[in-house]
Amino acid sequence: MTINGMKCTSCGKIAQPDRLRFQGIEIDGWRCNCGEDYFDPEQAQRILLLNKVRSKEYEVTIGQIRSNLIIRIPTELAEALDFHKGEKVHLKAESENSLHVEASSL
Ligand SMILES: [Zn+2]
Repeated sequence: MTINGMKCTSCGKIAQPDRLRFQGIEIDGWRCNCGEDYFDPEQAQRILLLNKVRSKEYEVTIGQIRSNLIIRIPTELAEALDFHKGEKVHLKAESENSLHVEASSL
């Protein structure tokens, strides 16, 4: 979360916190009156990663622990989606051969 102003490297004035569009998605950043935009680096990085994984398809093998089947989520996919061990996700059958996985809070 951005709270304070940030000194603009173009004009030297203070850029104010704002919501900015980065590759089609709104993220936090700073906007200066001179027209310069500064994006929150962590959020921008995540969007880049997200756009990268969205264009890919992953093939993984279904495993099994006792009676439950398990699917491993590739690291870059987990990072892009901000999935972490111990967090809850919702599973929903979308069709006869498709599974939708969604984080609880987004
Ligand atoms: Zn400026």
